[in-house]
Order: sequence, then structure tokens, then C-alpha cells
Amino acid sequence: MAKVFNITTSQDEKVIKFYNQAMVELCEFYDIQWNENTPLVHIVPDRKTFNDLWEEKTENWVVGDTMGTNKILYILSPDAYEKDSIHKYSDGEYFGLIKHELSHLFCQILFDSFEPLWFTEGIAVYTSGQLERYEKPKQFSKFLEFFETLGDEAYSQAGFAVEILIKKIGKVKFLKALKEIKTPVTEKSFKEFFKKNFDIELSYKWFNENL
Ligand SMILES: [Zn+2]
Repeated sequence: MAKVFNITTSQDEKVIKFYNQAMVELCEFYDIQWNENTPLVHIVPDRKTFNDLWEEKTENWVVGDTMGTNKILYILSPDAYEKDSIHKYSDGEYFGLIKHELSHLFCQILFDSFEPLWFTEGIAVYTSGQLERYEKPKQFSKFLEFFETLGDEAYSQAGFAVEILIKKIGKVKFLKALKEIKTPVTEKSFKEFFKKNFDIELSYKWFNENL
């Protein structure tokens, strides 16, 4: 696998515009003025390079990742988007992708963990406007399984679950609570966090009652 990559500064005005817009909106949502040392976006030209960066074969639905960094995003280029993934390209879709990945970086300022994956993905889906892509579930039944593995419901169900939670708790209180998450996060510690900060027993029952 390749270990050396060529990078050049992008002149892609559309992607630059999406980045700037997403940053403004996320600074407002998270109430964080991220003006210095701002995130770097790396546009990856094709799936092969994506795989080389990851050092493994990536799934065909994966089009962006922070690769565990707290400052850099890697996103599949608009030109390779349809050829090298299962997604259909649209400007709205691509803006959502950039905003989703940037949202992960904002979230990491508040707590330094990607786990529970359903929770961090749910926050990224909700804050990036990607809920539009999914149909609201009739019942929650699966998302809590995705603590350290990923599946569809970690995005679709979890995005709606996070929306419900933020609307019930209130955004300010929700964001304040995130700073209380201690790492490393375990399933047990996250349940305790949930109970202590939101006064909710973490289960499908509460989410279904509030659906
Ligand atoms: Zn994500």
C-alpha cells in the first residue's frame, strides 16, 4: 500500500463554498467560534487512493472520514462520487457530506470519543441536515446496538433519536452535557452519563414514547 501521497491546493470553488457555509452553520450550532487552526479538507481523487489512505479496502458507501484525526477530513472527490460509491451526486448531498464530517470534528472538541458510534453518527446526521435522506422510523429497534460497529440504523434511526433528544433536552443543555462525557466511553459509563445528565434510562422505550 502507498505511504506517500501527492497533495495540491484545491481551486474547487464549489467545495470551498460548501466548506465555508458548513463552518459558519456549525460554529453557530455548537456555539464554538472555530476561527484559527480550522479543519483541513482533503479531496481524495478516487476509491483506490481512498483505500491506500485507509490501508484497507473500504466499503462502497464510505465517502468521507476523519480517520481518527481531530482536524482533517478526507472526502471522495465530486468527480469520482458516482463512479466509486453507491451514492448519487448532488450539490445538496455533497454539502451534507462535508457538513457531516466537519460536525464530527466539532463534536470531538466537546468529548474526545467516536463511541458510542450511534450517538456520534446520530449527532453528525442531525446537525448536517442529512435527516432528509431518511424516512422517520415507525419504531426504534436497532440503533443502540451500534456502540463500536456501524450499520444503517446508526445513521438513519440514530439521527432521528438524537433529534428527539435535543428537542426534549434543549440544545444548550445537550451541548453542555457532552462535555461531561469521560473517555474511554464504555456501554456502562454511557448509560450512567445518560441517566445523570438527561434523567433518561437509555433504552428504546424512551425514544419510542417520544417518537
Ligand atoms: Zn460520520
